[in-house]
Amino acid sequence: KGDVSFNDVTFNYPDKKPAIQNISINAPAGTVIGLLGPTGAGKSTIIQLLMRAYDVKHGSITVDGVNVKDLDVQSLRSIISPVFQETFLFSATIRDNIAYGIANVTDEQIVEAAKLAKAHDFIMEMPLGYDTVVGERGMGLSGGQKQRIAIARAFIKNPKILILDDATSAVDMETEHEIQAGFKQLMAGRTTFIIAHRISSLRFADEIIVLDQGHIVQRGTHDQLVHQP
Ligand code: ADP
Ligand code: ADP
Repeated sequence: KGDVSFNDVTFNYPDKKPAIQNISINAPAGTVIGLLGPTGAGKSTIIQLLMRAYDVKHGSITVDGVNVKDLDVQSLRSIISPVFQETFLFSATIRDNIAYGIANVTDEQIVEAAKLAKAHDFIMEMPLGYDTVVGERGMGLSGGQKQRIAIARAFIKNPKILILDDATSAVDMETEHEIQAGFKQLMAGRTTFIIAHRISSLRFADEIIVLDQGHIVQRGTHDQLVHQP
């Protein structure tokens, strides 16, 4: 149902020193894990390994008790939705961007997902609504709008595991709050990994893991970490 665990995982990219070392994380289904730490700490590597961009040789990663190495990559990725900071929109209609990669999506599902992601209102204000072409040659969208389309896409996929690259530091406070409200709805009942740059973005995490140079240097709840001397 979405249990994820990293068991003493050490990983290095070819010919490099370890990007992460002796990482153990236990994320029972539905919990929210925050990954915090400076650039190069190993946060993205943890996510890449979970999605099997690379295979680990030292330690293991399991989803619902099954080693990810024994899962077919396509089915593994079909239960994981990443919402990244640099949301990639295709030069296509909003409808196709929301439905991207998912078969047999109905218009009702698209509208429903857009409403959940708080994207329906601004889409309806566009000249052609869901048929507006966006992306490289199409209409420009703000960062916050792109993010909400990505959230709608994730709702449609209905993933057991969610990966959020919070990275709202570049947007204004109001946009940050809107995006986080969308995230919060999307997270409900799903195992979520959030890459964050500020601990204040992780108030609702069940466990925050602080990384530095590939090591876990601190872990605990937001309150535990904030009140530590
Ligand atoms: P973070 O996401 O916390 O910024 P990363 O996981 O991207 O950290 O990086 C951890 C370490 O791995 C860094 O030393 C980084 O330079 C290295 N690294 C990341 N991606 C690659 C890659 N594709 N090839 C080689 N080294 C990489
Ligand atoms: P505008 O609102 O003028 O269209 P954007 O919000 O698209 O501008 O982009 C301003 C900068 O902030 C860009 O560099 C963009 O990459 C970054 N940015 C925008 N939204 C986000 C977001 N949700 N997360 C991270 N970075 C963002």
